[in-house]
Amino acid sequence: MLNPDSLKPLPYAGIFSRLRLGCFDTAIFTHAIHAIILAVMPQAQIRQRRIQIAFCVLLLTPLRPDAPKLVAAYGPSSSTPQWRVDHHMHLASPELCRLVGECLQSNNPPAVFAADAVRALDDAHVSKGVILSCAYLFGLPSLHVKSGDLAEMTRRENEFTAAQVAQYPSRLIGFLSVDPLVESAIDEIRYWRASQQLIGLKLHFTASAVDVRSAKQRRQVARVISVAAAQGLPMVIHVGGGNFNAADAELFIREILPSAGSSWVQIAHAGGGMPRRDGNNVAVLRTFANHIVRRDPLTRRVLFDLSYVPAPDETPDTTAALLEQMRRIGMKRFLFGSDFNVLTPLEQMRGIDRLALTRNELQTLRQNCAPWACP
Ligand SMILES: [Zn+2]
Repeated sequence: MLNPDSLKPLPYAGIFSRLRLGCFDTAIFTHAIHAIILAVMPQAQIRQRRIQIAFCVLLLTPLRPDAPKLVAAYGPSSSTPQWRVDHHMHLASPELCRLVGECLQSNNPPAVFAADAVRALDDAHVSKGVILSCAYLFGLPSLHVKSGDLAEMTRRENEFTAAQVAQYPSRLIGFLSVDPLVESAIDEIRYWRASQQLIGLKLHFTASAVDVRSAKQRRQVARVISVAAAQGLPMVIHVGGGNFNAADAELFIREILPSAGSSWVQIAHAGGGMPRRDGNNVAVLRTFANHIVRRDPLTRRVLFDLSYVPAPDETPDTTAALLEQMRRIGMKRFLFGSDFNVLTPLEQMRGIDRLALTRNELQTLRQNCAPWACP
């Protein structure tokens, strides 16, 4: 019987550790193999056999059907960044944190700074992060901020985001944000024309209470998007969650998306969002997929981020249904994102394991980089 406490590193321990059986299991497995070799083989042949066994394990590991999941995709043991970009991260000023939650209590007063985001990227060995300003949160109906104050608070949060991003020019890229239903939205977008820090626009339909079933609101939002597109801004748009369903996605694609012109549009959370309801996330993604498979020009410049996908409590059936739609769309259009600091990049990588992507799909996802993040 092997005593785990007495285990010492053996020549092929590093190779077996590639199988990611868990620390304890790997050690037991390695020492069992070693004991068998000692029992059946003359000493003179042991060194040669060790080399042959190690070589065979190296060759066979990629043939295991679940090898991509087992090989370390995100281990901080490697010094080389293995994921290029986290495409969906947030900071939050102390002013915003006084009104909404989800801020780091470790900062005094609570806030989320660029240094926190860069530390999370480093922990996960991700090269760059796209920071989406949370200015739109001041428009949350529950906060009852008056429209004059809203314009000022939106500007201050976008300024905070720009100043933070400026501290890490080689690591962070920023997007401004607005509530598209308020008067000041267009002025705010124009104010940031030619900014070096805020080079895209984030919209959050749920937080801004955008009702795409209202023709008037569709026109308002389309106008805001057309102004951003005229400035050449790419956009991240959170459409999903709540009642947003397949018919709403169809309205978005046909009546709002054309206003983005030649700008790229990244659909946040692959069309999902909180609160999740009746598998709407799958229905919305399927609607996009239906356009993409028939090469509809309207969806030619649409990408999707996988922040909070699959959700930590997503069922296996829904996770499989999401993967089916992702495969119809093609992995090239999917971008890694964590929704930091809701999740860290490292936590989101573990979530992506539950999608059970193939080795090639995972490799594609690791390398995918939106044009604004890898110019
Ligand atoms: Zn987000």
